[in-house]
Amino acid sequence: MKNLPLVCTKCGKSFRMENLQYRCDLCNEPLEVELLTCGKISDGNLLTQTMLERYAEFLPFASLDRDISLGEGFTPLIQSESLAEKLGIGELYLKNEAQNPTWSFKDRGTVAGVQHARKLGYKRIGTVSTGNMASSVAAYARKAGMEAFIFVSKNIAAEKINPIAIYNPHLIRVDGDYGNLYYESLKIGQTNQIYFINSDATFRIEGSKTIAFEICEQLHFDMPDYVIIPTSAGGNLRGIEKGFREFHACGLIENVPKIICAQASGCSPICNAFHAKQEEVSRVLDPHTIAHGIENPFPPSGNQTLRLLKRTGGFAVAVPDDATIKAQAMLAEIGLFVQPESAVPIAAIQKLRSENYLTGKEKIVSIITGSGLKFTEALTHHTLTSVECKLEDISRYIRDNFDQ
Ligand SMILES: [Zn+2]
Repeated sequence: MKNLPLVCTKCGKSFRMENLQYRCDLCNEPLEVELLTCGKISDGNLLTQTMLERYAEFLPFASLDRDISLGEGFTPLIQSESLAEKLGIGELYLKNEAQNPTWSFKDRGTVAGVQHARKLGYKRIGTVSTGNMASSVAAYARKAGMEAFIFVSKNIAAEKINPIAIYNPHLIRVDGDYGNLYYESLKIGQTNQIYFINSDATFRIEGSKTIAFEICEQLHFDMPDYVIIPTSAGGNLRGIEKGFREFHACGLIENVPKIICAQASGCSPICNAFHAKQEEVSRVLDPHTIAHGIENPFPPSGNQTLRLLKRTGGFAVAVPDDATIKAQAMLAEIGLFVQPESAVPIAAIQKLRSENYLTGKEKIVSIITGSGLKFTEALTHHTLTSVECKLEDISRYIRDNFDQ
């Protein structure tokens, strides 16, 4: 490991990177690796280097275990002029994280977490998740030859558990307060020598930074006004913002884009606290949204997300599920089938535009966190049609029903 301290995101207390510690022992807020202030992007062939190799100078590893990689990162940034026009903004870019090895952004943080776990000598990794992160940790454990312990809720649906079970981890359906499991897992990990790579684990944040790094390169270092991120625990948002801040500190970009935290109205603890001008998030008692991946009622990096938004001039917005479903259809109209949580930012842009928070000239990057195939039940909310036609009648059918 490089000789960098971990610092508390609230009080600034320093901790040693060689110790596996996730949160500050004074204020229980998450730790992060100290901000880097110099570094350059590695030369090399994008077809053969790994994401961690390309950005090695911006990551806390002195050396990299190449065999852990499943080819994560280097995802496309797609510009859509038609959707930008429909939303009434200047430019829209979509960072398609669905093209990662387990079809979500989680792989970036998982590969960084596994690197750290290996360096510390762990043979077991774990996570608390019922979705993208569970699949990702289970898959990378297989690749790295490690044991994976995945804690899911007792009543998890088969549609969700099977895509995790296929990687054959130790899959534990937990009977008890799932809401407290994040904190409990850290203690269970200590007792049982399991390195937990949870949603806002310090090294998961380091992996998420690469989303920002790639956006900078893909936009030729000409920064957008805003980056809008579907937000659950707050880990990915923290990582992306830190990535921009480090490139800025290293002189690679002139300004840091403002961050918009997008949540679902049925579970929006960060947004609620932001608009109530509170410094801490309160637990949402009855979370309900079709965007299950961001349905975290008490986000462990919620307070840090609030501090970050306040410090950087960002803001938070929440949208109802019906707007999210419409936004999912809008993304499909430009060829992108995304999970509902990834449509939340598009619905949020519509809302912000209609309320004149956005003036119409902005350049915005929206993060697509995962594939639509992750949650096919959402398809029941769309009107999907097809027609049956005899083979010999197809030409006539087309002539009769469609303009030449
Ligand atoms: Zn602290």
